[in-house]
Amino acid sequence: MLSPIASTAPSAVLISGARVLDLDGDVHRPEETDLLVVAERIAACRKGMGADLDAGRTLPELPAGVPLERLSAKGKLVVPGFVNSHYHSHDVLLKGCFETIPLELWVLSALPPAFPKRSTAEVRARTLLGAVECLRSGITTVQDLATVYPYDEQHVDAILKAYEEVGIRCVFALQVADVPGVKSIPFWDEVVPPSMREGLSGAVEPFGRGMEVVELVESAMRKRERIHPRITWALGPTSPERCSEAFLGGLGDLARSRGLPIYTHIYESKAMTLMARQGHAKDNGSLISYLQRCGVLSPKLTLAHSVWMLPAEIRMLADAGTSVVLNPVGNLKTRSGVAPIRPYMEAGVNIALGCDNCSCSDAQNMFQSMKLFASLAAITHPEPGPPTARDALVAATVSGARTAGLEGEVGALKVGMKADLSILDLADPSFVPLNSAARQLVFTEAGRSVEHVMVDGRFLVRDRRVTSIDEAALREEVAELMVPLRRDLEAVLSRNQKMLPYLMEAHRRTWETDIGLNRYIGAGNG
Ligand SMILES: [Zn+2]
Repeated sequence: MLSPIASTAPSAVLISGARVLDLDGDVHRPEETDLLVVAERIAACRKGMGADLDAGRTLPELPAGVPLERLSAKGKLVVPGFVNSHYHSHDVLLKGCFETIPLELWVLSALPPAFPKRSTAEVRARTLLGAVECLRSGITTVQDLATVYPYDEQHVDAILKAYEEVGIRCVFALQVADVPGVKSIPFWDEVVPPSMREGLSGAVEPFGRGMEVVELVESAMRKRERIHPRITWALGPTSPERCSEAFLGGLGDLARSRGLPIYTHIYESKAMTLMARQGHAKDNGSLISYLQRCGVLSPKLTLAHSVWMLPAEIRMLADAGTSVVLNPVGNLKTRSGVAPIRPYMEAGVNIALGCDNCSCSDAQNMFQSMKLFASLAAITHPEPGPPTARDALVAATVSGARTAGLEGEVGALKVGMKADLSILDLADPSFVPLNSAARQLVFTEAGRSVEHVMVDGRFLVRDRRVTSIDEAALREEVAELMVPLRRDLEAVLSRNQKMLPYLMEAHRRTWETDIGLNRYIGAGNG
């Protein structure tokens, strides 16, 4: 068992002399200022607080008797903690296991329904390790769309307790569906021989009939809400084509009655989009129309990926106030194409950023996501223009907070907001010379400069080490857990190898079908 090591949790911290990034201010040369954190919130952000204390003066924002830690941070840059708006904790241990393979093949190789049931110890360790990776690169909030399959209440508890132990902020959603995965991929039913079909699965499989699953999710949430102070809940229908109308409607009712965000995957690959065209004639092949008809197209809805979205659908999202969360690294690694970044921006759709799964991206690193987001619009829009470096930072912070239901609480360093932040070393070569903090954060830095990370006013990373858990003990535990996991992965890959000719045939048929949209530059041009 891991034993948490004690972390110093001062009641107040004064970070003095650092450049503090304000996305509403000068993002290129942020001013040197002082930042006072009292309990879990930012109490003051102004120059001269350190000097006042040195001169024996008191700070009006610091309640008498509260112990104060002082951190001299000249030569550092304080940035808001990143919000990783699309993340899955269930395949953390499979990073580096796959080359770039098509999405549908990767799902069959990496996601829980393809594997025998995992141990509670493995579920706990993978959740901790994913959170550690996030924290070490300056991510302070994760939106975990977790597959717990086969469903087990102990596994839900293991995940939530792990998040509580490590201390990262989490919006937790159980990934659910009521349509089997085999029914959601074009041509699988036709080309894969019946004897092999039990090996075909999706990101999650139904736990029961539609409304039973809605009740199960509500019950799981009710039992645990308010137990974990930094964990809030969201709903996670895996993707619209995997959810019946009654099921989505039931989740929508639950979301409205409880004020919950809803996360789902949409139009990630061409196959998912073709499925919409083939299976949703009633909605003219549009999953956005389907979501609207089911009553869930609203500002509470966030659509992950949204690569193969039509222009008319983008306008519908803007009108409904629905957000998208783009995952450019994972989309490239799964050969899924590039999202229409500029059209989303021009329509005024709220855009957040995510790092997606550990085995399809394969890094929990918002610096990578920001750089690709800011760069990839160039493949469709050769003229200069947005997204700028500041746009990428906004997507990784403020816009992500909106999708998390934490707008005004996290995502910026303003008085009254939660103290979720990172302190970066400006002596790192990434920032020498300092020409533009925003551009060097987005285009130069890769995470090397992250020294300290605070969540809820508590340092969870101090001098590049996680303070809340014993990382060395976690590494040892993971090494033991990898023995059975590697054995099971080999069995999964061997089964998939036998199905490969059929899966590739289904893939080819998908590619030969015109869906009225292309998200690959140069496709068909040699
Ligand atoms: Zn995902």
